[in-house]
Amino acid sequence: MCGIVGYIGNREAYPIIINGLKRLEYRGYDSAGIALYDGKTIQLCKTKGKVADLEANVEKEICKTGNLGIGHTRWATHGVPNDVNSHPHYSNSGDLVIIHNGIIENYTSIKKELINRGYTFSSDTDTEVLVNLIEDVKKKENVKLGKAVQIALNQVVGAYAIAIFDKNKPDEIVVAKLGSPLAIGIGDDEFFIASDASPFIEFTNNAIYLEDEEMAIIRKGRDIEIRKIKDDSIVAPYVQELQLNLEQIEKGGYDYFMLKEIYEQPSVIKDTFRGRLLADKGIIRLGGLEDYIEKFINADRIIIVACGTSWHAGLVAEYIFEDWARIPVEVEYASEFRYRNPVITEKDVVIAISQSGETADTLAAIKLAKEKGAFVYGICNVVGSTISRATHSGTYTHAGPEIGVASTKAFTTQITVLTMIALKLARVKGTISQSDYMLHLRELDIIPSKVAKALKKNDEIEEIAKVFKDATNFLYLGRGYNFPVALEGALKLKEISYIHAEGYPAAEMKHGPIALIDEQMPIVVIAVNSNHYDKVVSNIQEIKSRKGIIIAVVTEGDTVVRELADYIMEVPNTPETLSPLVTTIPLQLLSYHIALMLDRNVDQPRNLAKAVTVE
Ligand code: GLU
Repeated sequence: MCGIVGYIGNREAYPIIINGLKRLEYRGYDSAGIALYDGKTIQLCKTKGKVADLEANVEKEICKTGNLGIGHTRWATHGVPNDVNSHPHYSNSGDLVIIHNGIIENYTSIKKELINRGYTFSSDTDTEVLVNLIEDVKKKENVKLGKAVQIALNQVVGAYAIAIFDKNKPDEIVVAKLGSPLAIGIGDDEFFIASDASPFIEFTNNAIYLEDEEMAIIRKGRDIEIRKIKDDSIVAPYVQELQLNLEQIEKGGYDYFMLKEIYEQPSVIKDTFRGRLLADKGIIRLGGLEDYIEKFINADRIIIVACGTSWHAGLVAEYIFEDWARIPVEVEYASEFRYRNPVITEKDVVIAISQSGETADTLAAIKLAKEKGAFVYGICNVVGSTISRATHSGTYTHAGPEIGVASTKAFTTQITVLTMIALKLARVKGTISQSDYMLHLRELDIIPSKVAKALKKNDEIEEIAKVFKDATNFLYLGRGYNFPVALEGALKLKEISYIHAEGYPAAEMKHGPIALIDEQMPIVVIAVNSNHYDKVVSNIQEIKSRKGIIIAVVTEGDTVVRELADYIMEVPNTPETLSPLVTTIPLQLLSYHIALMLDRNVDQPRNLAKAVTVE
């Protein structure tokens, strides 16, 4: 995920691009770059770091002139964040300059082909491959830039929002979109391009949002030409009047980043398995795993090290790894593990989970495990992060930047990755039946739509939040796969509302917490369809006998718990093994609404930081 900005018109492009990048920095923040063109010379400057670092470099390195410009703030997916991998990227001839938001999945084969044809590459990005593919097509077919873009894009698999210009055409920018957002602001004799409308909101209220598989040729002082990438047919431009203010737009129309990130979950879960899960073909392909599969299969045990929400994702993994792949799993707090002189051998596989990839305790645990000879696999969200480099191999979650301090989409995408790993191992080991394997692949494939359905209950959950916002204690209970979800639900509430909450395995309640239950105590119980459903119902009865107030997460259509509970939050039916991906949604929303009603800063709760880089 990243932010792209472009301008073509009669003003100086530089201030528009740089201010636009600052507004889009929430979308990506590991490196930034800009290209300006005055019709004679292309001025290009790019750097690892923030947009502010780019700004400082521009002052030193280039002159800020040109009525055409493009800029990019990156969230690396291919190649670590450094100066060279930053965008924009030139084609080999130096004629074409591109910025790109997205992932070109088949870039390896295209790159090989281009290398055979004499092309050279200075970066590790998929984007540099795309710009050279476009150049190659342009030369081979002897066509203009727009046509070359179209032909090239029909050869790529993946997601993109791109803006590209040709040195020989100083009055033209070509843009295209599939999967990543792209808005075009329409001014008088000028056009703005951006990932969302925030970079141009003070210049125009009129915008065209390109649809997937559309491209546009934008010429200074002329009309925009929009075409379908597949069949070249002309699309009539649909110009919308923008109603949003700046603040709203940066958060994509949501009041808080946390809410935006909660709502992004259907699409980022899809991003996480895009190109990796081919449900119909029965294939799971995880680049980082393929070469090391034997290590996992032959491991004496898997040790998962993590902190906070990632530790909860690890607990979910314990259930699925043991159930499907029949490999013993231990889940450890990294902070305890690192100081405990743990028993680790070369036959152990250690999985380290961290959204930021910078968590200090997890990093220390990795170093310890490596010293003892274990194979270490990382699951991180931030590409090029310290943990992703410190591990032997790993898988990125592709959740996009998570800005809200309380993790939401990181949790569900981590579980998505862990589920794919467990299924893959079970398949290779032969510990899962073919029918069970196929069923879970298909169910995982449709999980995004079930998450979207769970989100539709937001208004009902907000009403429940109103009732309980003044409670001083909460108990969260779950069994089996949903025990970690109970822990995560309680953590979310604590983090952002500052209400004390405890998560427990439902049966453990009898060994202590039951003493707390009275008519004041709200108890959130995850009671969806599962092997333990009847047991959970009994636990609910026990609570009701002590006058506790039950808020139950139930499967759509449930009648039994509905009768017993005081409030219910419904989620779609899913196999128990995948249910954490949907049951966690109402709990996130409940915490969010309670915190908001208490006037808390949900995005930046007190005392917490996004990446815990101290132990
Ligand atoms: N795949 C491109 C890269 O890694 C673009 C990433 C983005 O969307 O920021 O450079």
